[in-house]
Amino acid sequence: MLKRYNITETYTPHMEQEYEKVIGLEVHVRVKSQTKMFCSCRNAVALASEPNTNICSICSGFPWMLPQLNKEVVRLGLIGWMMMGCEVNKTSRFDRKSYYYPDLPTSFQTTQLFETIVWKGSVKTIVNWETKEFGIHHMHLENDAGKLTHAWGKTLVDFNRAGSPLMEIVTDPVFRSADDATEFLREIQKIMRAAWVSDADMDKGQMRCDVNLSIRPTWQEEFGTRTEHKNVNSFGAVSRVINAEYKRQLKIIQSWWEVDQETRWWDDDTGTSTSQRSKENAMDYRYFPEPDILPLVLEDDFIQAAKQKLVELPVERRIRYLDIHKLQEDDARLLTADYELSNYFEKLVELTKDPKKSCSYITTILLALIKESDEEKNISDLWFDVEEVAQVINLVNNDELSSTNSKAVIEELFNNGGKADDIVDAKWLRQKNDMWALEAIVDQVIEDNQTQVEQYKWWNENIFGYFVGQSMKLSKWQWNPKIFNELLKKKLG
Ligand code: ADP
Ligand code: MG
Ligand code: ZN
Repeated sequence: MLKRYNITETYTPHMEQEYEKVIGLEVHVRVKSQTKMFCSCRNAVALASEPNTNICSICSGFPWMLPQLNKEVVRLGLIGWMMMGCEVNKTSRFDRKSYYYPDLPTSFQTTQLFETIVWKGSVKTIVNWETKEFGIHHMHLENDAGKLTHAWGKTLVDFNRAGSPLMEIVTDPVFRSADDATEFLREIQKIMRAAWVSDADMDKGQMRCDVNLSIRPTWQEEFGTRTEHKNVNSFGAVSRVINAEYKRQLKIIQSWWEVDQETRWWDDDTGTSTSQRSKENAMDYRYFPEPDILPLVLEDDFIQAAKQKLVELPVERRIRYLDIHKLQEDDARLLTADYELSNYFEKLVELTKDPKKSCSYITTILLALIKESDEEKNISDLWFDVEEVAQVINLVNNDELSSTNSKAVIEELFNNGGKADDIVDAKWLRQKNDMWALEAIVDQVIEDNQTQVEQYKWWNENIFGYFVGQSMKLSKWQWNPKIFNELLKKKLG
């Protein structure tokens, strides 16, 4: 039953100390499989193409068509969930959640309610310098609906994304602040990207989230009545919903009214929400086992193969960067925000054994160059190997190149590619002490080969390569032949 209330402006900030937020999230992540969940329509391009061009009789709900479960969706989902430490149910079933809405061609959603594919799990993250672990209540697979566009006084429907696979992740009411909730979401995004399960871009609707919130006096164990905001679609909006809804509920309680359990709609432009409908319960959806799909039985080999694809958790990397590599918090955060970037860092550390310099060459030089350049480049798109950056760092650490000059070498690599050693030599940047060592080698070669020197000077210029070879040999092939070339030319005249 809905109660009408008239909120008096008696809200006082001191109540914020007495009442805490209790938040639970339902997150939907679009799995990046090649094809949709139950048919062979393409999945990844579903949103970009012309409306209603990427559909078939299965995903547009023709009554006689039989869905066929996409194995890749199950595999990717399993990888994502296992990254969150879930327990796997070898046998699961699909259920129909029936409701009518114009974007739902089948009039039911194929989901899992009674026996889901996985169970439990948790996500660890860092919230304001504190490591926290948030419990997940359950997770399952389901298919997406189409998309409605309201324009010119009409509503248009596009079924391109109908039948796209979604992983649903439902948390326990474990968050106590907007920061808790948004850091959790960011962590999910990182996990999905690291494991190649989803791009989880909220702007593109690849990750959406329902925010459930109630408030309670800090001393009270029992939870209050919650409201739900559906399909909140940016990290910022999640944060704004939480703070606005908290204040709204506080005002209600302070005016001695009760919070209604309802679904509310958030308007991010005005920063306000309005009641949409009173909360439905499972009964309203007439859930029943999906008769068109057989129970899903996972074989051990299949589970094992998915396990092989697990990668180190982004948060574990972040903690390792802080504790073992002793990086600054901001740097650790920046490097692990993008798994490719942290892979690059990992490789650089492996080659240089110098985490601090590896970090600073990435963050202060490479990323700055990428930012300055007009092209939208990723660290993995650079046209020189990570080995070259490692070589620059190693040269600096061996006192063969100054820090100042090293920047010029990286810039040259960035602009024209090539090899670090070649650039250092071409630009005569190898440090003095080494030049002396090289000159000493060349002098030695000249002294030891006087006959050949005479030959070269008087009639046989072809013999020049011989001196280069001798110098290389004497230097144990540690140096670039080009530099010997230069030196020998100078000395032999
Ligand atoms: P449904 O939306 O189908 O009713 P649940 O009852 O399991 O599903 O809850 C959905 C979400 O609401 C979960 O994320 C859960 O953590 C959260 N939730 C449940 N009770 C509360 C509460 N009192 N306050 C805040 N969040 C809650
Ligand atoms: Mg719900
Ligand atoms: Zn289809």
